[in-house]
Amino acid sequence: MENKFILVINCGSSSIKFSLIAPHNGQEPLSGIAQNLLTEQANITFKLNGEKIKQDLPSPFVHHTALSHIVHFLQQNKFSDQVVAVGHRVVHGGERYSEPTLINDDVMATLEQLSHLAPLHNPANITGITAAQQAFSALPQVAVFDTAFHQTMPAMAYLYALPYELYQKHGIRRYGFHGTSHYYVSRQATRLLNLPESTGSFISAHLGNGASICAIENGKSVDTSMGLTPLSGVVMGTRSGDVDPGIIFHLINSLGYSHQQVNDLLNKDSGLLGLSKLSNDCRAIEEAILNDNNQQAKLALDIFCYRIAKQIAAYTASLTSLDGIIFTGGIGENSDYVRQQVVSFLSVLNLVIDNTLNIQTRFGKAGNIATADSRPVLVIPTNEELVIAQQTAEVTQTL
Ligand code: ADP
Repeated sequence: MENKFILVINCGSSSIKFSLIAPHNGQEPLSGIAQNLLTEQANITFKLNGEKIKQDLPSPFVHHTALSHIVHFLQQNKFSDQVVAVGHRVVHGGERYSEPTLINDDVMATLEQLSHLAPLHNPANITGITAAQQAFSALPQVAVFDTAFHQTMPAMAYLYALPYELYQKHGIRRYGFHGTSHYYVSRQATRLLNLPESTGSFISAHLGNGASICAIENGKSVDTSMGLTPLSGVVMGTRSGDVDPGIIFHLINSLGYSHQQVNDLLNKDSGLLGLSKLSNDCRAIEEAILNDNNQQAKLALDIFCYRIAKQIAAYTASLTSLDGIIFTGGIGENSDYVRQQVVSFLSVLNLVIDNTLNIQTRFGKAGNIATADSRPVLVIPTNEELVIAQQTAEVTQTL
């Protein structure tokens, strides 16, 4: 088969991540990131067949400039004719989108309307799509939503105990995120355990800078820890996860915080960073524990692991059976320390880790790290870009 690639784009407010992926075999000859957009330090790094090439971006340092650079790079390296479609990661699809969607004017208008649900993310995604439509005007573009996988949650799981009108009139409910990742790892887990397609029931823990837990019954999401926004649930790098909402009023009314300060406190200054007073980066925290016996860092990671374990245990109420638990994301894939700590709280669920397998299964390796008698504990490297490429190829029938 002649090589056909999907260009996968993940556009943030000041960055664009991109990769060229062959959907049938996952081959990725080119990837990269444009960073510090909208500033004079804007630059773009291409990784071409393993080799990194960094370039400064000329003024104006906007998303369109970065996309033009990517087009030029594709032309220079003779990829242009092989790119058949563009797939975009879009954070919030609301209740409107439960499937990957071919982008047209109506879809763009709906995405604009949905921006109030994700004011930090969706506008950036829309900017990326608009820039890509100009840069690749002949190619179909597809939106793949972070929320889509969770649209199968029952009302019991997605409604907050708030006045029902808030849901009816304003769409205030749990949506959940990291859907593409939970979808991918649960499919891979089903294969790894040789279960029939669409039968696997798992609790998956996506642990990166953002972190979420998902209960999956027969391949479908039935509950997840992030909510209307990615702030809720377990402890994250800089986000608090769940806190008593009364704290917010205490901060404002008694301690004089402004709304913006509370927002920054919960999103940027909390989580592992706030607790450890050291870093949001799990690796740095582990090093401080292991090398310096840093007790504050240990407390932060203890809380992080305990909260994950509690959430996993809670989701046994959402399932009728449990084939295993899954660790993914930068921390879940690499930190034997966190995995060991989390699972140590879950022996009641017959989950026990094999220490040797745990240490061996890192840096891109997949496998079951449980003892022979235990329920499976799976480590599965996520690949959201591959899912976006495959779903884009399917929607556009360009395979
Ligand atoms: P993002 O949510 O930004 O995609 P990642 O999934 O890349 O984040 O995860 C980043 C996190 O993974 C960081 O906290 C980092 O410290 C952690 N991490 C990466 N490698 C290791 C490792 N070898 N040991 C422990 N933590 C790691």
